[in-house]
Formats: sequence, C-alpha cells, structure tokens
Amino acid sequence: MGNGLIIVNTGNGKGKTTAALGLGLRAVGHGMKVLMLQFIKGTWLTGELCAVKRLEPNFKIVQLGQGFVKTQKNEQSEEAIENARVSWDYAKQEMFSDLYDTIILDEVNNMIDYGLLNVEDVISVLKERPKRLNVILTGRNAHGKIIELADMVTEMQEIKHHYKKGIKAQKGIEF
Ligand code: ATP
Ligand code: MG
Repeated sequence: MGNGLIIVNTGNGKGKTTAALGLGLRAVGHGMKVLMLQFIKGTWLTGELCAVKRLEPNFKIVQLGQGFVKTQKNEQSEEAIENARVSWDYAKQEMFSDLYDTIILDEVNNMIDYGLLNVEDVISVLKERPKRLNVILTGRNAHGKIIELADMVTEMQEIKHHYKKGIKAQKGIEF
C-alpha cells in the first residue's frame, strides 16, 4: 500500500467540493473506503448526499456544520467555536480510525481562515495520520502552511460565474 497524499482544492472558482467528490467516486470504484466530512453545512439537501447514500458504507458523507459562521476572525459565537471543536475532535477520531482510504475535509480551509480551527492542530494530525490515508482539504483561502505540507494543490480560478448575472443556485449544479 502506497503512501497517502495530501490534496488541496482551493481558489475562488467553482469545483472544489465537486472535484473532491469525483475523487471519492473514483476511489469507491476500486473498492476503497471514503468519508467526506462537511464542516460548513449548506442550506440544501444536496444531490451528492442522496447519491452517496446508495454507496454506503463504502462512501459516507457526514455533515458536521451548524450552518452559518461568520467570515471574520474574532467575531465567532461561542456556539460556532464549540461546534468547531466538537467537529475537529470527530474528524481526528475518524482520521486515526484507519477505517478509510480517503477522508475529505470539506471547507476545512475556510474553518482555518475564519479562525475556528488552529492550523498547527490540523497540520499535526495530518502528519501523524495513518500512512495510507489520503486527505483532501477543500475551501477558499487555503493556509500557506497547509499548501506547503500538501502533495498536490489545485486552485480553481473563477473566470465567470452565472451567479454574477443573477442566476440563482441550480439543482444538479450548485446542490
Ligand atoms: P462546488 O460545491 O460546486 O464544487 P466549490 O466547493 O468550489 O463549489 P464553494 O466555495 O464551496 O465552492 O461555494 C459553494 C457554492 O457557492 C458553490 O456551489 C458555488 O457554485 C457557489 N459559488 C461559487 N462562487 C460563487 C460566487 N462568486 N458567488 C456566488 N456563489 C458562488
Ligand atoms: Mg465547497
């Protein structure tokens, strides 16, 4: 079994989460076990949540987030801070469980960016994780130290987004 990779999908363009789901799908096709942990819960019941249900237990999505968090450091509610702590403990437990080949930490970059998770804590868990485990970290504004540690980093760059011309979130595209 080869060494697992640390993969980062960041940038302001669309496709960070969906590219991670794509890799999850690819791995599950080989009989590998994949877990996606969503740190910031969306507002919709997403298509991927329903689709992945059919692939359980090989592919699982767990929503850890409580919904909205502030995007400015030092402005987080006690509730958001506590939720982040509980979510990170859960993520750590799953990463050390050695039950999975790939774990996707969806929007974890934002959690670090918002000051809800400590980058050094995340880095130490990544370094100490089971060797075979691939970890995919998604979200805007990936921290420099995460980028430095990663094996592969992709920046999705927005050229155009339909939202800007007033087209709201679309079924099968946004959720
Ligand atoms: P996806 O989940 O579709 O792969 P993503 O993970 O790259 O997208 P996020 O930054 O997590 O994107 O944003 C979540 C959602 O917000 C996406 O569905 C995306 O289409 C939408 N979005 C992205 N850019 C913008 C924007 N500039 N304005 C409004 N909505 C946006
Ligand atoms: Mg995303």
